Amino acid sequence: MTPGIRPLIAGNWKMNGTLASALRLAEALRSAAMSATPELLVCPPFLHFQPVAAALLGSTIALGGQDCHHAASGAHTGDIAAAMLRDVGASHVILGHSERRSDHGETSAMVRRKCEAALAAGLVPVVCVGETEAERDADQAEAVVARQLLDSLPPGFATAGGIVAYEPVWAIGTGRTPSEAEVAAMHGMIRNTVVQAHGDGGRATRLLYGGSVKPGNAAGLLALPDVDGALVGGASLVAEDFLAIARAVPAG
Ligand code: PEP
Repeated sequence: MTPGIRPLIAGNWKMNGTLASALRLAEALRSAAMSATPELLVCPPFLHFQPVAAALLGSTIALGGQDCHHAASGAHTGDIAAAMLRDVGASHVILGHSERRSDHGETSAMVRRKCEAALAAGLVPVVCVGETEAERDADQAEAVVARQLLDSLPPGFATAGGIVAYEPVWAIGTGRTPSEAEVAAMHGMIRNTVVQAHGDGGRATRLLYGGSVKPGNAAGLLALPDVDGALVGGASLVAEDFLAIARAVPAG
């Protein structure tokens, strides 16, 4: 953790579940969620967003989208504008997830435009970066992530409270994670890059680790320097697992 930064545990529900299962999950989180640290965020599929928001009304759990378009409105069939998310109660939006980058060909330049749109709409962007296994094997992991950061984060990102999630592509949904030393080294590099590019505001930027975070490995990962929380996929679909990860955040 970084002293002075409030940790965040974020759940990315991706394209999973039915409306009924999403509501059951929201109810289970709502009744068990702690009101103090860490901050909790859930990002349901767009179709489930409003019912989940209603189920979480009055709780301390924040809501986010899983993507947004770079334009404010217009002829973009199937897309969602940042202001639409804000309008229905989102405070955050995940951008540049590796599944968006691979499934939809999103480049860092596109992520940057989405990030600008999110900031303009008053949303906190959670920008994902991470190397593929081939890039890590070729000793390119830090260079790839630094490039993604420089190309994806617009001016004003740090001062607006933007969040970075380091998610090695090969660790997502695989049950594999980098070693704690590798995560610490990468997060240190990310901190330095954000501070160099965005000034002292970057010292307060929350840096999340994502990729096969589970109750069993969360405490070790969350105790690392410059790891200010986690972006959780699969384990966020099981309320007890998500809450166990939140409880693994080291005290103050
Ligand atoms: C993710 O896709 O953001 C993620 C971290 O997934 P998982 O926890 O399932 O690896």
